[in-house]
Amino acid sequence: MADNYTVIARRYRPTTFEEVVGQEHIATTLQNAIRDNRVGHAYIFTGSRGVGKTSMARIFARALNCEKGPTPEPCGACEICRASIEGTDPDIVEIDAASHNSVDDIRQLREGIRYAPLRARFKVYILDEAHRVTASAFDAFLKTLEEPPPHVKFIFATTEPGKLPETIHSRCQRFDFRRVTTADVVKRLRQICQRESAQADDAALAMVARAGRGSMRDAQSLLDQAIAFSGGTLTAERVQELVGTLPREALLEIFDRVRARELGPVLRALDASVSGGRDPADFMDDLVEHARALMLLRAAGRDAGLVDEAPDTLERLVAQAESYSVDELAGAVSLLSDVKRRLRDASDPRIVAEVALVKLTRLADLATIEDLVRRLEGAGGGVRPAARQAAAP
Ligand SMILES: [Zn+2]
Repeated sequence: MADNYTVIARRYRPTTFEEVVGQEHIATTLQNAIRDNRVGHAYIFTGSRGVGKTSMARIFARALNCEKGPTPEPCGACEICRASIEGTDPDIVEIDAASHNSVDDIRQLREGIRYAPLRARFKVYILDEAHRVTASAFDAFLKTLEEPPPHVKFIFATTEPGKLPETIHSRCQRFDFRRVTTADVVKRLRQICQRESAQADDAALAMVARAGRGSMRDAQSLLDQAIAFSGGTLTAERVQELVGTLPREALLEIFDRVRARELGPVLRALDASVSGGRDPADFMDDLVEHARALMLLRAAGRDAGLVDEAPDTLERLVAQAESYSVDELAGAVSLLSDVKRRLRDASDPRIVAEVALVKLTRLADLATIEDLVRRLEGAGGGVRPAARQAAAP
């Protein structure tokens, strides 16, 4: 890899509102605010990591300051736009609150705020990880937020809005960023692969996207590693070696075997995973996630939109979900997630995992027993309550 290699996540960072994947609701609202001249002075951008908060903040700042603006479509070509894209614009101040959160830091910030922007219309302050600002530092901030100079805009980006003081919330407009769907991530990864001249099959990209768990940035970092690791041709097998998550195909197979109560293949899948250097807890993680998807599909149906998968995969998941009862799946999820928790500090996690798999293949039996008990209770319904009453003191 060359010294000047720039990671994919940075090279393919969105530079226009349209390019921020999965956050159209926010892009449109911000663009409308600019168009209608109703831009507020302080915003909170919340959402999990890697969903586009900081990118959106930068694009918004550019839209406000573009030489042809304020405009819903920053030109990307003027001096201010270009400096902003390169991260060198003096009027767009990005502060990582994780490391600059003291009262002194905020005091310095307040000093800077008093001065007019150097060349643009606005000074835009983007505070990343804003929840890391200390309470006393926030206090120092409040005065500024109450009477902000007209040339200043604030954007607080945070993964934990609950940790921002109420006094900050009440002075800001809040935008909630969504997790990016697997389909949207896959679409973007495919574009990137094309531009990088990398070959990738659909299953491989779906695995990378799934491993990113709703974070575009994490998925792109993984893609970067996967391309380097596989020499430019990504297959599901290679990606699995890298990220470790079981392919959906393997999970479908495991749950078919569970359904058929064939313990052998299920235990062998665990063995293969552990032999490959994976933690049994990670294996259990994949199983929990799969069982949960089945449970949601079985309980709420595919139209509820609770499971985020490509249509053909979704169809197979629905078919598998229907081979189980809701009770069985709920039982599987609670069994597996319970075991997953205990695995983290078990002295021999592999044995704990094996016992869990044995129980998993017997869940159907347990459900049958429950059913039997319920039916017996139902049959003796007239007798039981009386017996209980008699037993009471
Ligand atoms: Zn411009």
